[in-house]
Amino acid sequence: MHDACGVVGISLRENGNNVAKSIYYALYALQHRGQEAAGISVYDGKTIRTHRGMGLVSEVFNDAQIALLRGVVGIGHVRYPTTGRSCIENSQPLLVKYKDGAVAVAHNGNLVNSNQLREQLEQSGDIFHTTSDTEVIAHILVRELLRHDLPDAVRALMRKIVGSYSLVFILGDIVLAVRDPLGIKPLCIGEVESGMMVASESVAIDTLNGRLLRDVRPGEMVIIRNGELFSHQLSRLPCAAHCVFEYIYFARPDSIMDGRLIYDVRVNIGAKLADEHPANADTVTPIPDSGITLAVGYHQRSGINYRECLMKNRYIGRTFIMPDQNMRETAVRLKMNTIRPNIQGQRLILVDDSIVRGTTSRRIVNMVKNAGAKEVHVRIGSPPIMAPCYLGIDMPSREELIAAYKTISGVQTVLEADSLGYVSHKGLVEAIGIPERNLCMGCLTGIYPLDIPGEKCAAAQMTLAEYVC
Ligand code: SF4
Repeated sequence: MHDACGVVGISLRENGNNVAKSIYYALYALQHRGQEAAGISVYDGKTIRTHRGMGLVSEVFNDAQIALLRGVVGIGHVRYPTTGRSCIENSQPLLVKYKDGAVAVAHNGNLVNSNQLREQLEQSGDIFHTTSDTEVIAHILVRELLRHDLPDAVRALMRKIVGSYSLVFILGDIVLAVRDPLGIKPLCIGEVESGMMVASESVAIDTLNGRLLRDVRPGEMVIIRNGELFSHQLSRLPCAAHCVFEYIYFARPDSIMDGRLIYDVRVNIGAKLADEHPANADTVTPIPDSGITLAVGYHQRSGINYRECLMKNRYIGRTFIMPDQNMRETAVRLKMNTIRPNIQGQRLILVDDSIVRGTTSRRIVNMVKNAGAKEVHVRIGSPPIMAPCYLGIDMPSREELIAAYKTISGVQTVLEADSLGYVSHKGLVEAIGIPERNLCMGCLTGIYPLDIPGEKCAAAQMTLAEYVC
C-alpha cells in the first residue's frame, strides 16, 4: 500500500526570506507520503513559477533551481499516483491559467466522481493536459472564480467534487487550503518564523522549527495572506471520516494528528493486540519499519522480551534492478535479512501493520523459520483488509486482497504461521481514541463514508453537497 501524496503551503510576511527553501525542507519531511515525483510553485509578485520532476525531493531539486523560485508565497507536493499515469505531466503543483490570472494547486486524496466531472467540463469546451483528478479540481475552481468571490467559488467547488481532498492553492498572493467535509486526509496548520503554513503532517512544521497550532477542520477553508491566517467553515457535517490507516501505517510516528501522537496510538494498538491475542512465546519482534512501534506496545503490555530479528536494507531505491524469477529469494533477502542468533530456537511473535496480498508476510514467516525459529505467531495491527480504497490509498483490487476471500485461519494456513491474530475493530478504535463515527474504515468493513458506485455507504442518503453552508 502507498499513500497518495503529501502537500505543504507557506505564506511569509513580505519581509520574509524566500519561501522555496522552507517548502523544500518541509517536502523532505513528507517524503514518506510519495516518492514518485515532487514539485514546488512560488508566486514572485507577478507570476507563479514552478519546478517539478520525477523522483525523490533530493533528486528533483538543487540549489540553482531553488534559487530561481523567488517569493514569499508557495506550495509544494510529493506524489504517489492513485489517479492518472505516472508521468511528469501528472506531477504537481499543477498550474491552470485563466483570463484573470493563474492558479497553482496540489492535492492529497482522490475524487470518486472525477471522470463524470471531466466529461462534463470537456463537453463544455475545457481542454485537459493531464489525466489527474487535480486538474479537474483546478478547472472547476477557475470557472467558479469567474462568477463568484473566493469563499463562494470554493463553496461551489465543494458542492461538486466528491471524495477525499486536502488541497493547497496559490491564488495571487495568498495560499488557500481546503480539507474535504469528512476530513479523510490529514492537513494541519503551523506557525513558522515570519509566517504561517499548512502541511499534511506536523513533522513538516517541526522540521521548520515551527509550532503546530491545530488541524484544518473537515470542511474548513483557510486563507493565509502576508503571513496571517483567516478561516471560513464551509461545510458542517455531523461526523468525520479520518482514514484509520494514517494512524496505523501512513503517517510518521512523530506526527500529531487530531491531538494524538501517532507513536502513542501505535503503542496502544500493540497493547490491544497483546490483550486480544496473547501467545506463549520468548520474543516479540517487529517486521521493520512499520511494525516497530506496534511491537513495542505488545512487548510493554505482555512483558515478553523485545528483540529485533529482521534488518531492512534502507538503501534500495527506485532504480533497484529486480532479480529475475529464479532469484526471487535473493530479492527478498536484499530487502530484508534475518539476525540468526536472535531467532534460533525462539518462539517468536512477529508484529506487522497489515496483510494485503499475503505474499510478503508468507516469505517473511518462511525466512524466520529457515533461520531457526521454533514457532512463529503473527500479530497484525489492523483488522483484515477486505475491500479496496477509493479515497486516496493505492491498494490492490478486491480479488488480490487475501482477506477478501479467505478466513483468518485460511490466511494463517497460507502464511504457514503457528497462529495469527488481527487487532479487532473495537480494539483499533479504542487505541486511536476517536469515536468510530468519525473514522473511515471502508477497506476494513466494506462500508464507506460516502456514496461510491457499487459499494455500501454508511449513510446512503447522505449527499455531501447538502452540508456545504
Ligand atoms: S478506505 Fe481504508 S485506506 Fe481508504 S481512506 Fe478509508 S480507511 Fe483509509
